[in-house]
Amino acid sequence: MCGISAIYSSSPVANQLYDSIIALQHRGQDAAGIITYDDRMHKYKGLGLASEIFSSEQLSLLTGNIGISHNRYPTHGEFGHGEIQPVWTSVPYGIAMSHNGQLTNYDELVIEITKEKRYLNTTSDSEVLLHMFAKELDKNGQPNNSEEFFNHLCDAVSSIFHKVQGAYSVTSLIIGKGLVVFRDPRGIRPLVRGEKVNDNGTTDYIFASENTMFYALGYEPKGNVLPGELIYIDNDGKLFSKRLVKEEFNPCIFEYVYFARPDAILNDVSVYRSRLRMGQNLAYAWKKKYPDVTPDIVIPAPSTANTAALSFAHEIGVRYSEGLYKNPFIGRTFIMPGQDKRKKSIRHKITPQETEIRDKKVLIVDDSIVRGNTSREIVKMVKDFGAKEVYFVSACPPVQHPCYYGVDMPTYEELIVNSKNGSDERILPDILGVDILMYQEIEDLVEAVTRIGDHHIDTPCMACLDGHYVVNGRKVHDPI
Ligand code: SF4
Repeated sequence: MCGISAIYSSSPVANQLYDSIIALQHRGQDAAGIITYDDRMHKYKGLGLASEIFSSEQLSLLTGNIGISHNRYPTHGEFGHGEIQPVWTSVPYGIAMSHNGQLTNYDELVIEITKEKRYLNTTSDSEVLLHMFAKELDKNGQPNNSEEFFNHLCDAVSSIFHKVQGAYSVTSLIIGKGLVVFRDPRGIRPLVRGEKVNDNGTTDYIFASENTMFYALGYEPKGNVLPGELIYIDNDGKLFSKRLVKEEFNPCIFEYVYFARPDAILNDVSVYRSRLRMGQNLAYAWKKKYPDVTPDIVIPAPSTANTAALSFAHEIGVRYSEGLYKNPFIGRTFIMPGQDKRKKSIRHKITPQETEIRDKKVLIVDDSIVRGNTSREIVKMVKDFGAKEVYFVSACPPVQHPCYYGVDMPTYEELIVNSKNGSDERILPDILGVDILMYQEIEDLVEAVTRIGDHHIDTPCMACLDGHYVVNGRKVHDPI
């Protein structure tokens, strides 16, 4: 999971791109970068949080009215300065690219690229995607105008859709040509669009992983880049778009469970509302399964689960309490690199409030249980602070399979349900140390995401839950 954004404007874009990185910081905290262009490219990138990387002096050097940015959260490739996006090449044009997602046929694409004497500097799949795009664009020669260039782009991106498997939402800038965005045919990773009409009648465009910065920057939401769609804005601000392929629309369900900010609207579905519905469905299931068990208090594992816990508490008629205080200045544990760092950060991040917990039957709502580290630690903390009984409910069904589409949960062994005895429902509560453990059912989660809204989702990707890999219908354990 990463965060990307791209802006075409009638005024300099560097500060807006910086604001976009800040608004998407929750999607990746390892590194960030911005590339703008006027007569040439201007780049700056670094490791860490955006606020640690960019200064106003550096931003003032990123001149130009077109640019792209990236928040990095590594899913493929090593972790170093070379992997920080945007990536760029100078053949056949100066092309820069930001990519959110993960390619599943990386090895075969590397062979195709290196056969054509293009050389890779990193192990990043985003660099491979950049070279595939450049290679395909190189086939048609120099265009005479924007219409002709758009046709070249259509050919190049159609070929990418044909050859490149996996998840990819892409923003790209091309020197002398303009801004290009496209989204893989299944629309696995999000990509939304917005517009702003200026006083002089010109239109500014923004594309981003989430619409979380639109209001602050003055953009009106204009829906999504559709799965399989290519959009090109030329140097003069003329917009071209075409949906090149139409397949099943399978956006990632985990965006709604965990990744996206609650104020985001992705694929025409409000993340906040979907989380309210997750809590509601979970409460219906609780009342059915445990009609005689009523907790004294409902506490979210902060803060992604706050929304689901709120509606859960409302639905079962029990007080909602913020009995676990979260320090907002420490990063999200799920996306922190390295297990040690994750374990250490949970206690530094969350503090129980004894007055809310002591001698009470506490029901904790969490968004999901992946590795189980956070859940185990939270349960221990709540017990340390005197809870009489602890019930644990997860707004997401058991995460049982790795994700190959851009989320860092790469091995079966790392998932708690696959740990020794972890798949045994009678034993997993013991591993977590709780009196009752209840998961959301898959159909209830899908219902929560798709219940309302003028959306066009066919079936969300939930490969990490049900083992059905939506790209090429891969099944559990198929090598990819
Ligand atoms: Fe999202 Fe899970 Fe699908 Fe990965 S496998 S894209 S995390 S739903």
